[in-house]
Amino acid sequence: MSARHDYAERELPAFFAVPSGCWIWIGWAGRGGYGRWTKRGPDRKRHAHVVVWEIFNGPVPDGYELDHLCRVRPCVNPARLDPVPKLINLHRRNLANGWRRRSGGGRGSGRSRGDRHGFT
Ligand SMILES: [Zn+2]
Repeated sequence: MSARHDYAERELPAFFAVPSGCWIWIGWAGRGGYGRWTKRGPDRKRHAHVVVWEIFNGPVPDGYELDHLCRVRPCVNPARLDPVPKLINLHRRNLANGWRRRSGGGRGSGRSRGDRHGFT
């Protein structure tokens, strides 16, 4: 019934551009804060940023994944995404994590509730 429900059902790209140049996905968020393309259908498990990147650039090469150069997870701007071999992406991520010393490590710790925006 809500507008929020509506765009998820239509399965259209839903994002807005912010002044920093990021395109922030507002369609459907999956685990870890990455955008989800849709909540149902064959593309349901795909990250929104991957789908948008493929629209512009074609399929992501096998064994590669898209690294966010801007480190903004919900960002889907293809210009900010860099296809890198999975191993390197992991490595980069570790470096970034160590550097920032983020506390409360991601995975299932449930600390993400607090930084939700009130989307009412
Ligand atoms: Zn970005």
